[in-house]
Amino acid sequence: MDYQTIIENIYNKVLPFVNEGKQADYIPALAKVNPNQVGVCLKTLDGKEYAIGQAEEKFSIQSISKVFSLAMAFALEKDILWQRMGKEPSGTSFNSLVQLELEKGIPRNPFINAGAIVVADVLLSHLQNPENEFIEFVRLISNSQNVNYNHLVAQSERGQSYLNAAITNLLKYHNNIKNDIEQVLQFYLLMCSVEMSCSELSQAFLCFADHTKEFNYKNVHLTASQVKRINAIMQTCGFYDESGEFSYLVGLPGKSGVGGGISAIYPQRYAVTVFSPRLNDKGNSVVGMKFLELLTTETKESIF
Ligand code: GLN
Repeated sequence: MDYQTIIENIYNKVLPFVNEGKQADYIPALAKVNPNQVGVCLKTLDGKEYAIGQAEEKFSIQSISKVFSLAMAFALEKDILWQRMGKEPSGTSFNSLVQLELEKGIPRNPFINAGAIVVADVLLSHLQNPENEFIEFVRLISNSQNVNYNHLVAQSERGQSYLNAAITNLLKYHNNIKNDIEQVLQFYLLMCSVEMSCSELSQAFLCFADHTKEFNYKNVHLTASQVKRINAIMQTCGFYDESGEFSYLVGLPGKSGVGGGISAIYPQRYAVTVFSPRLNDKGNSVVGMKFLELLTTETKESIF
């Protein structure tokens, strides 16, 4: 497959959509990002890399971090984790409170904010130095020492985190948070603030792309079956209440973030990341969705 020619052609086709949608501005630091960027990087399991546009530009990975924190928590707690959250699509926005109240503080899945906040709590309970261990894990799987938190982004989000604070309080009320709520919220926001490029993200997602192999990265061990399950949750829950639409249009497991990134996996073949900051009203990158739809349509490579 001539991926370089394919991604160049698709890049030209999606550029006209770069002005559609709106970048996230509820996190003040993200409102300052140049919204007219498009970056793409596709990496194959056999070591090839194809890129175009701002593929090396760092951006805020936001909710894409939820895949990495889940991998760590799942490795630590195994199926016990599912006593504290579900693995069903939520059908609601990523920061919805209503469902969490109705379901008595058990988040639908680890990829909505409530679930990822519980995951942050799990990591705080197990790890001696959670901040360090999380970033070291992400550096290891992305094969880049140059991956860091952006404390300014985390602080800027904390200043406006009324909804996430309400979610954390509701979880605590239902006894689904064990640690100090402020500490949990700060750690959750810090994980969201990690900055990576399309190239680094694709490298990290390649580690999940082969669900026939064990995942062994220093102290994070997942069985092949657990890797398969993480992919399944990406497929069903990776795009909030647009997960069905992403599955329909693209047909790959993946995860988006309000920084404008989307990473997706074609199992046993490649990982691809698209970055473009303007989002649709569900919080997913407009150009990212369009690009990946064309990629799987033109290559006829999807899981379906
Ligand atoms: N930090 C963001 C939030 O909690 C992450 C949301 C996202 O990327 N969907 O609102």
